[in-house]
Amino acid sequence: MQITKNKVAAIHYTLRDEEGTIIDSSEGRDPLHYLHGAGNLIPGMEEGLEGKSQGEKLNLKIQPEKGYGEKDENLVQQVPRSAFGEQEVKPGMRFSTNQGGVVTVTDVGLDSVTVDGNHPLAGVPLNFDVEIVEVRNATDEEISHGHVHGHGGHHH
Ligand code: ZN
Repeated sequence: MQITKNKVAAIHYTLRDEEGTIIDSSEGRDPLHYLHGAGNLIPGMEEGLEGKSQGEKLNLKIQPEKGYGEKDENLVQQVPRSAFGEQEVKPGMRFSTNQGGVVTVTDVGLDSVTVDGNHPLAGVPLNFDVEIVEVRNATDEEISHGHVHGHGGHHH
């Protein structure tokens, strides 16, 4: 069975950056189950998996525009140090904003803190090694919800 719209695929993946450093991997965990064609994965991943079958292994090189987007410099902002109160603030720390986003601290000055609201992988070319573990038909319920249920999926 091939991966096409409204199929559920289970994949193992390892994500590396340009230098070959592993950023994320499903190794040692359950494979990632996802509903194909529902926008649950980044576009470059769905395009690369389209038409592939169980057992296939592939290497996908995905540029930012098909990944997590280009970095938007407007999302890099200075906020007063006082906005964090007594809390310790260090580069690399992540905070939720009142607007529901997540920002990463990139620099801490005496009076101000630089935060970056971009996805950590924005602007980063991605190298995925992918192995397709399983392909099955989605249920009507999964298709109407737009995500996978049961093992490796949503429980509700
Ligand atoms: Zn659901």
